[in-house]
This record gives sequence, C-alpha cells and structure tokens, in this order.
Amino acid sequence: MKFLKSFLIAILITVPLVSGCAINKSSVGGFNLVSVEEEKQLGDKFAVEIEKQHKVVNDPQLQSYIEGVGQKLLTGVRKVEFPYTFQVVQDETINAFAIPGGHTYVNTGLIKAAGSETELAAVIAHEINHVVARHSTKQMTQQYGYQLIATLLLGGNQGELSKLAADMFGKAGTMYYSREMESQADYLGVETMYKAGYNPNGMVTFFQKLAAAGEKNPGSIARFFSSHPETVDRIKAIEEEISKLPPKTYLPDSAAAFSQAKAKAQKY
Ligand SMILES: [Zn+2]
Repeated sequence: MKFLKSFLIAILITVPLVSGCAINKSSVGGFNLVSVEEEKQLGDKFAVEIEKQHKVVNDPQLQSYIEGVGQKLLTGVRKVEFPYTFQVVQDETINAFAIPGGHTYVNTGLIKAAGSETELAAVIAHEINHVVARHSTKQMTQQYGYQLIATLLLGGNQGELSKLAADMFGKAGTMYYSREMESQADYLGVETMYKAGYNPNGMVTFFQKLAAAGEKNPGSIARFFSSHPETVDRIKAIEEEISKLPPKTYLPDSAAAFSQAKAKAQKY
C-alpha cells in the first residue's frame, strides 16, 4: 500500500513535467510568457505591417460578409480575449491567417475555392482557434525568444517589426505551427463550428478537396496544407471528433450571400 501510494505520488509529480510541452487539445490555457495585453499591442503593430504588405480588398460588401462569418464563429469559441477583426486580402493562394491579437485575414483565393459558406467557415474557425489558444505568441517566444517581443513592444525597431511580419505571415512565411498546434486548431475549430451552428463536416469536405488539389499542384495550397504531409491523419481525427458530437440541426447555409461574396471575390 505504501509502495502504491509513493508510486502514485511519483506519477502525479512526474506526469505534469513530462507532459509539460504536450498540448491538451481541449485546453486553451497553458503557459505563455506574453500577457494578453502585450499580445493585443503586438497584434496591432503587426496588423499595420500586414496591411502594408498585403492588399486589403476595398469592397465594403465583401468585407462585411467576411466580418459576419467571423462574428458568427466567435459565438462558438471557448473565450474571446481579443478584439477580433476579419478582412479580405487579395491573394490567389488558398489560405487564411490570423496574427497575434485576433486580426484575421482571408485570401480571395480561399473564398473562390470554398464550395459553401460552411467550407469557408471551416478554415476561418481553424485560424480563429490558433488565436484562442494563443499559438502565435507561444510559437514566437519559442522561435525568436521573449526578448525580441519585448523590444518590439517598446517600439524599438520598425525595420525588424516589418521584416518579422513578412517572415512570419508573408507568402514565403517561415512561422510554422507545430503539428500539435495544428491538430488543436482543428479540434477547437470543429467545436466552434458546431456551437456556432455550422455543420463541422464542412471541414472534412474542404480539407479533402484541398488535399486533392495539393497533390495535383503543391504550390496552390500554400502553407495551410503543404507543411502537413499527414493530412490524411488530420482528416481522420476530425471525422472521429465529429462522430462523437450529439446530433444537431444546423442552420441552413446562407447560399445567396455566399455566392454573392464569391462573385465579388472573382473580381479581385
Ligand atoms: Zn493552422
């Protein structure tokens, strides 16, 4: 008994240490050197740079459509700590990306490739949850060190900020999330879609399409998938999660609004 007790204590002490760097998919907390307030400030600085480097589409109707999809998804996330923004940028690659602090950018290429609002929402749900779980600041700290973030926050080096924004979120961006972070964003993305009233199966159908397109033409899928050869496993994990969700009647997709947005995106 005594052995058993000390054995259990040993496990209790060891397990958190061992699992310290593993991600519990359903937990959005976890250690982060960067505070929420710092992340907001950093995000605002990055947003200015991103919007210099990417062409934001000047189309109020298209922008408000994407804003609407984003806001609807936010009703299904675990927590909203940041003032999220959603904008369309002119870029043919099938991608969306969210930077620290919740600024989210959707490429015209993604809107054109999606077959429905639900498929489009699937990618945005995935991106939003990188923010909810605060992956970008965790990854940045690991990749560049907190000192650099502190320097940027102090407004020290504009050139460095601009270069970093391009390095991380530009076309040839070098910031890759870990496989675990990607799988957590998928996991939380499914949950978000479900709670917000989008059929999470849209994530499966769209990821399947992307995987097929990526096989034909690896360049077309950009970073959303090209860095993840284990796409089949990802899709399997998503399907498994969906199969465990209680049945639900989803809101009908706003097909008219989606095709209008898609037609608009074709112009850019
Ligand atoms: Zn991702």
